Amino acid sequence: MTTDNTTHFGFKQVARDDKVKLVRGVFDSVAGNYDIMNDLMSMGIHRIWKRIAVQLANVRKGESVLDLAGGTGDLTALFEQCVGKDGQVVLADINAQMLRTGRDRLIDKGLAGNIRYAQVNAECLPFEDNSFDCVCIGFGLRNVTDKDAALRSMHRVLKPGGRVIVLEFSHPIDPVTEKVYDFYSFNLLPKIGKWVAKDEDSYRYLAESIRMHPKQDELKKMMENAGLERCEYFNMTQGIVAVHRGYKI
Ligand code: SAM
Repeated sequence: MTTDNTTHFGFKQVARDDKVKLVRGVFDSVAGNYDIMNDLMSMGIHRIWKRIAVQLANVRKGESVLDLAGGTGDLTALFEQCVGKDGQVVLADINAQMLRTGRDRLIDKGLAGNIRYAQVNAECLPFEDNSFDCVCIGFGLRNVTDKDAALRSMHRVLKPGGRVIVLEFSHPIDPVTEKVYDFYSFNLLPKIGKWVAKDEDSYRYLAESIRMHPKQDELKKMMENAGLERCEYFNMTQGIVAVHRGYKI
């Protein structure tokens, strides 16, 4: 639950102004191990979730894409293939350390040509109105303090006809999956974080922040309230992850 001056950081209630610093602390801490932890935690399945999200974005050659909260650039690398040499992808993130790791990885993959980088807060994007054919936020919205402001900002920078894609952990659609997933998230995940990344707290935050994220229908409504149209969502892995898509008409 969020009040005027406080918001949630995982299961804790914190001052709204403090959340951005706390989230920064998490990603400063995990940046170096972020990619290996993603593979370990999801048994590699995050690569499939990301490919499906990119397919649902239906990006064509020559288009411009904003990969918001893009972190170490997995989605940017996939979008780069879609837009081709005449298109452009902007990898944008609030965290300098995640962006630096992402830029180094993309350069190492030889994918630097049509990729730009921007350190931004999703709540107040520093781009002109109607700039992008697609704005995608992958596993990022959960960490944003004012999600409604972020969705409005994403809608503003989208060209008419463009689409917003929100790829995010969501809520299992059946009780058996929910039970197994809860056990995994609260018992095993922090331990994996401790052993591999030497950081139990950040991975406990991950599990808690997922539980505090709006359910599928609520997020769809928030997207509609931000001005997006034809909003729909696609559950993956029994709702553990969902892709939401909406258009600017
Ligand atoms: N999109 C990447 C992926 O799917 O692998 C990275 C996701 S990572 C879990 C979440 C990212 O959101 C972090 O890099 C973090 O710095 C970024 N982030 C958190 N709050 C943000 C905000 N208000 N604006 C922009 N990025 C933010």
